[in-house]
This record gives sequence, C-alpha cells and structure tokens, in this order.
Amino acid sequence: MASIPVVRRCLQALAQNYGKSDQWVDSSLKLWSRGLASVHDKDLIRGVEEWCGKEARMANLARLKALIEANPLRMKPDELAGCPACNGTGLRELARWHQKNGRVRADTFVAACDCPKGRSLTSATILNWSEVVDAWRANPWTEAVFHSTPERYHLTTQERNTPEELAALEERVKERSKVSGWSRVGAKR
Ligand SMILES: [Zn+2]
Repeated sequence: MASIPVVRRCLQALAQNYGKSDQWVDSSLKLWSRGLASVHDKDLIRGVEEWCGKEARMANLARLKALIEANPLRMKPDELAGCPACNGTGLRELARWHQKNGRVRADTFVAACDCPKGRSLTSATILNWSEVVDAWRANPWTEAVFHSTPERYHLTTQERNTPEELAALEERVKERSKVSGWSRVGAKR
C-alpha cells in the first residue's frame, strides 16, 4: 500500500544518502511505486531508514524489498485498497472514439488505476490508465477520449457509443421487439 508521495520521499532520502540526482528520483518513481505496491507506507519508511543506517551502498528495489519483508514487525499485507475512481476494483473504464474507414467508432477498454490496488494489477497487458489516455490523445486518429473519474466511476452510454452507434443499436432493438412480440407480452404478466 505504499503511496506515491511516500515512495517519492523515500527515493529522495536514498538519493541524498547515496548521491543520486533528482532526475534519478523522477525516473525511478514509477517502477519503485509499482514494485512497492504491496508494501505498507510505515514499513517502507522503516526499511529505508534501516538501509541508510547500515548499508554503504545504494539500495536496489529487490534488495530493499527483501530487507522490508525480512522484518518480523512488518504490517500484515492487508487487502490492497482500491479508490472511488475504480470503484475499489483497481480498474478504470476508458473509451476511445477514433476514425476508422471513414467513420467514427467507439471502443471501450479497462486499464489499471493509480491507487495501490490498480498499481498491483498493472502489467504488460493491463496498462496504467493515464499512459493509455496519453497515447490515445497523441494519436491523430483519435476523436475523443473518456475515462472514469473519482466523481463518476461509470462511463455513460453516450460516452461508450457514438451517436451513430446508438442509433444503430436502437434500430436493432426495434427490429427485435417486432419479431419477439410474444415474449414482450409474456414479460408483462
Ligand atoms: Zn483506484
């Protein structure tokens, strides 16, 4: 559950102790916060203090984690917490409207959230949502991008589908209701 601000503070402490640059802190932050997603803030701080107190050489992520995990006093790895933006699932819903064969199409995706649960799910196939959104926005074929937010976890139907797709969907529903009139009557009872 190490939070990004605490990971940053710890990297800064290591940088100061072992003569690393601010740039190293920035470039290491993402990898370290992913790697430490299952470590509690308190244990991380204690681990970094211990490392700086007894080691002459700079920590790497694996060795620091091993030191933290070897501490019998460390906190039990709790259930990793989700957040409102992912509704506690660790996953955020995304939609991309893009040009394809002269039409605008909407595709929906899920991607990992920034919270500890999301970071623990991040992998080669489940990318971080903001990286996906940035890549889409940089793509010239992209017309619009929608993503869940802490205020609104679910995308709307109007975000998941273009007006054209919604019209086609409505048309299909109408067609179906004509064919299956019996089941509709049955459903009313
Ligand atoms: Zn989340």
